[in-house]
Amino acid sequence: MNLSADTVARDPSGTVARDPSGAVSRDARVHPTADVESGVQIGAGTAIWDHVHVRAPARIGAECIVGGKTYIAGEVEIGDRVKLNAFVYVCSGVTIERGVMAGAGTIFTNDRFPRATTPDLSELRSSDVDEHTLPTLVREGASIGAGAVIGCGIEIGRFAMVGMGSVVSRTVPDFHLVVGSPARTIGCVCRCGEPFVRCAPGEIPRARAARCPVCDRVYDVDATGMVTEVFEISDNETPRTETSDTDGTTARPGPA
Ligand SMILES: [Zn+2]
Repeated sequence: MNLSADTVARDPSGTVARDPSGAVSRDARVHPTADVESGVQIGAGTAIWDHVHVRAPARIGAECIVGGKTYIAGEVEIGDRVKLNAFVYVCSGVTIERGVMAGAGTIFTNDRFPRATTPDLSELRSSDVDEHTLPTLVREGASIGAGAVIGCGIEIGRFAMVGMGSVVSRTVPDFHLVVGSPARTIGCVCRCGEPFVRCAPGEIPRARAARCPVCDRVYDVDATGMVTEVFEISDNETPRTETSDTDGTTARPGPA
């Protein structure tokens, strides 16, 4: 199924204005079978597909696509232009910044050592946010492959990429590409998604003036694996290729 906004806009069954209080933008498209609880905020241009359940008081930004059968818990915040494919499970405590993609079947978690009941088994434990709930933050531009499981109390960095089926158990640095279970770095990816440096699983990637083969953006990766964007290289400047600097303190051009 094509989940482009254009397709949704042409689908009359997916154009339902809800909630005159304005919590759901009149420009949002909510499929008739979706269950959007009162008090949910949805921004203009966002499309909510079939059988999605959004619990209050979740907030979803503008121009997002929420694929069919996805579940979004109440204590969730989602920024603008986020794409959640079908069957994504977003539990309380998750914050998703703008421009993030989560592939089909992505599962978030929020309790590291969960129990259904109190220790004597006499009472169900509440499903509400409590001291056991650990937050997860997905930074802007990141993408998560289909079927990945995202641990809690962690961050997925800006423009990072998680391979399909990965189990992410610790924080992923900005621009890092991680795969496997537990997920480990195997390189770094450009803003456009293309890898620009590779490394052995779990090793620290290194690069100086590495150029994306697709879009020509340029990056440095220091000895700690921290990625710096180097936007401005003039046409007559040769990209730096020296590798002797290992302290990561050399002055670099800043982002444009
Ligand atoms: Zn690129």
